[in-house]
Amino acid sequence: MRAPNPILALLMLAWMTAPSLAQSNASAKLDRLVRAYPGQLSGHDANFIFWSDGTKMPVSDGKPEKSFEERLRHASLLDQMLLPYPKGPLPKPPGPEDDPGRFRNEAFFDKMYGNCTKGEAQKHLVTITWLPHSWGGHLKVTSVNGIADKLRAVSTAIEALPASLRRFAFPSAGTFNCRTVKDTGRRSMHAYGAAIDLNVTFSDYWLWRQRAPYHNRIPYEIVEIFERHGFIWGGKWGHYDTMHFEYRPELL
Ligand SMILES: [Zn+2]
Repeated sequence: MRAPNPILALLMLAWMTAPSLAQSNASAKLDRLVRAYPGQLSGHDANFIFWSDGTKMPVSDGKPEKSFEERLRHASLLDQMLLPYPKGPLPKPPGPEDDPGRFRNEAFFDKMYGNCTKGEAQKHLVTITWLPHSWGGHLKVTSVNGIADKLRAVSTAIEALPASLRRFAFPSAGTFNCRTVKDTGRRSMHAYGAAIDLNVTFSDYWLWRQRAPYHNRIPYEIVEIFERHGFIWGGKWGHYDTMHFEYRPELL
């Protein structure tokens, strides 16, 4: 009998012990989720994420073949990380199902910020002054994850822009609001005090525009400031909502 080819044997061993591509992709996504919330999450394995207080939450609901609509209404944590959020200005309008960030696992955000229907999210709200030199309105936002401080930093950076750009950012059309998203019925990031809407005069929202093709008037200079502080923009969604920003550092 011939001795086995050592290179072939090594290749066989590597193939048998390497995690599948899907497993390593899922693991990289969960790494990003854990890194994005260092005060709250302590780690993950293939099946669970672990919270710093010892709670564990399943990463999957065992339904990998869900439709887009099912993921909007019943997102697992892996669904939440499914769609990549594009870096930088958009080279072209998003496709109809390019909605990075709209899959949200409600149990995850309820635990993180509190369920407003039980009065929990309200306990974390603080008041910030938005654009004190240009507008100065008071907004209620959550202090969880340092979001109030991050929005103060966003406000300071926007104040440094020329007036022709600043005008898109005030008056704010709202922050905390214990409500659901119109088309999905799931809790909005506004229900956690982790989202802000800018000047409604310059905003475009797919539902108001009778599902018209993508349209945006918000300058990227403003978007870039929010993204730098951990907020994603609703203007990068096929179901566009261009005045909307929410704190989702796991996607940035
Ligand atoms: Zn909004």
